[in-house]
Amino acid sequence: MIVTKFGGSSLADSVQFKKVKNIIRSNPARRVVVVSAPGKRSSDDNKITDLLYTLGSHLKYGVPDDKIWVSIVNRYKEIKETLNLDIDIEAELNEFSKSFGKDINQDLLVSRGEYFCARLMSSYLGYTFVDAADIIRFSYDGKLDVAESAKRIRAAFDQYGNIVVPGFYGAYPNGDINLLSRGGSDVTGAYLSKCLNADIYENWTDVSGIRAADPKLAKNPKAIQRVTYEELRELSYMGASVLHEDSILPVQEAGIAINLRNTNEPTNPGTIISKEATEGTPITGLAGKKGYLCCAIYKQHMSSEIGFFRKVLSVFEKYNINIEHTPTGMDMCGVIVSEEQASKHIHTIISEIKTELHAEASIERDIALIAAVGRNMAGHPGICAAIFKILGEKQINIKMIAQSPDEHNIIVGISSDKYAEAIAALYDGLCAENIL
Ligand code: ASP
Repeated sequence: MIVTKFGGSSLADSVQFKKVKNIIRSNPARRVVVVSAPGKRSSDDNKITDLLYTLGSHLKYGVPDDKIWVSIVNRYKEIKETLNLDIDIEAELNEFSKSFGKDINQDLLVSRGEYFCARLMSSYLGYTFVDAADIIRFSYDGKLDVAESAKRIRAAFDQYGNIVVPGFYGAYPNGDINLLSRGGSDVTGAYLSKCLNADIYENWTDVSGIRAADPKLAKNPKAIQRVTYEELRELSYMGASVLHEDSILPVQEAGIAINLRNTNEPTNPGTIISKEATEGTPITGLAGKKGYLCCAIYKQHMSSEIGFFRKVLSVFEKYNINIEHTPTGMDMCGVIVSEEQASKHIHTIISEIKTELHAEASIERDIALIAAVGRNMAGHPGICAAIFKILGEKQINIKMIAQSPDEHNIIVGISSDKYAEAIAALYDGLCAENIL
């Protein structure tokens, strides 16, 4: 049995709905369908979810704006009318609009994007609509109630066989809606896959799998055919936007593979994410992010002062700042952190290090980190050499180097203004060397 999840662009209008139906019909094992809310039909269009958030603010502050609700209603009407569906979606939308007012529950309001989309999809496919509020249950602290949800999901599946479930939300024990964070329909699909022990979790979007580098920076980067969960998490952490990060762990724990597919190109096999993968080049993909700073700390003989490093790190811990890397020398160490996370406290941190640790400290901003990630890099000589050569030839200075102990990633820190050039050059150069 396959759990399929379709993202907003795959559901943007009746044309996209038809593609979804063809995909579902082409394999009867696709019995569980999770939907997002209709997304953008073109780059200057709006996602239904964004319209609902905007509507929520208008209602909350008592600024009437009927246009937003009308435009939402029209999106659902277009799908219903073009596909000639036997469901009175206007009546359902109209009924819901009667609850509009200052006190409307914002989670409930925003969740209706997926809810009404699932109502239409269930009518179109002839699959039973199952409300996520009835099967995805949370305790009051917002954590998924795994046992209760698994029981309800299994019961719904056993009773109805083929089901459509709206993504992005569930309910607290009293039935109130709990909205997940943005992109959360991926997580709904992952929960359902885990609880139903799916053979595979298919996640359908508008790209044919993960690219080996950011297509906005590298020239036509190839798609990655196979990637491990671990590599995917490394790449996502380092900036590759693929799936909602909370969607990986549930399926990883259950050993269920994820297949990323493209609704607009259904014959493309996309990317398979699984526990293990053998074939492939040493580097699986490149990712990176701007927006880091390095706090450089200087003190004579610090490397022989037992406990000094711990004291440095505890200052960052005190301000709840996550440490990314810590390059060190004899008399100097650096602490690399996200600028966004550190900005509020960094000057306090510097002065504490100076006064309490009797050290010099300064900040260097605008650092970008680039990661080469690959399960096949371990024990393979020449990868760092290739990276350094490519950057050296471009006159791009490397400020920091790190490699994880399992040799599955190599990270370099460079100046942010060279970031785009570095990614483009690394992608071309590493492919030319056949190591990416
Ligand atoms: N519609 C929601 C969003 O735009 C959730 C999702 O699509 O997964 O974030």
